[in-house]
Amino acid sequence: MPALTRRHLLQHLSTLAAGSAVGLPAYCAYAAEWGNWSGNQSASPAQFIYASDEAHISEVVRAAKQLRVVGGSHSFSALVPSDDTLLSLEALNGAVSHDTARHQGTYWAGSRLAQVSALAAAAGQSLINEPDINVQSLGGAISTATHGTGGNLTCLSANVTNIRLITADGIALDCSAQQHSEIFNAARVGLGCLGVMSQITLQN
Ligand SMILES: Cc1cc2nc3c(=O)[nH]c(=O)nc-3n(C[C@H](O)[C@H](O)[C@H](O)COP(=O)(O)OP(=O)(O)OC[C@H]3O[C@@H](n4cnc5c(N)ncnc54)[C@H](O)[C@@H]3O)c2cc1C
Repeated sequence: MPALTRRHLLQHLSTLAAGSAVGLPAYCAYAAEWGNWSGNQSASPAQFIYASDEAHISEVVRAAKQLRVVGGSHSFSALVPSDDTLLSLEALNGAVSHDTARHQGTYWAGSRLAQVSALAAAAGQSLINEPDINVQSLGGAISTATHGTGGNLTCLSANVTNIRLITADGIALDCSAQQHSEIFNAARVGLGCLGVMSQITLQN
């Protein structure tokens, strides 16, 4: 989440009206400067929105002219910048459920990997592999095939069993190897181009 400086606060206040003008809940639409972790990518989006729930994601997707999702802002590539709408799922974090029998966990896509790892551990499970840092969002890590080390271990995307994807028309699609399988396979490393993942199920 960008640090709330005095400048951001002023921008926030001045764009509340703009947010309402396009039908977005005023409390979560504001302009902000965005930069990634290494500082080699930046953007000045017209609006930076924190999604409050899946219905809100659908609403934002339908209303936006151009939209990019931002996770933990750790990608070096230009995957996030937009001068229109940046959507963060930072507020959509935590566990949805754990399936003890299948050893699977479903998490909100805005969860950071450290949080997912801790939630899995609390449920008696564990991520199969992790990268060398764990501050990425689950959605960002899955979208970019983030991987750890280990000759026989796959990237995190390969351990995804289900994705709930909010598509460009605002519909929520539950995708898996059995349901919408082509979309599922594309979304597993979608580079943020295929819709907004709201929930992700991992084989732990
Ligand atoms: C210090 C450092 C160490 C790293 N270590 C490793 C490592 O060990 N192994 C490795 O493989 N990589 C590593 N990376 C790369 C990092 O894992 C990836 O760049 C990852 O994408 C970052 O996740 P993020 O949440 O920051 O995503 P962001 O950079 O914010 O976004 C990445 C992409 O994901 C999309 N996205 C994010 N959330 C969603 C969503 N909910 N729905 C749809 N699309 C979404 C965005 O639109 C964008 O296209 C490292 C990076 C850094 C800076």
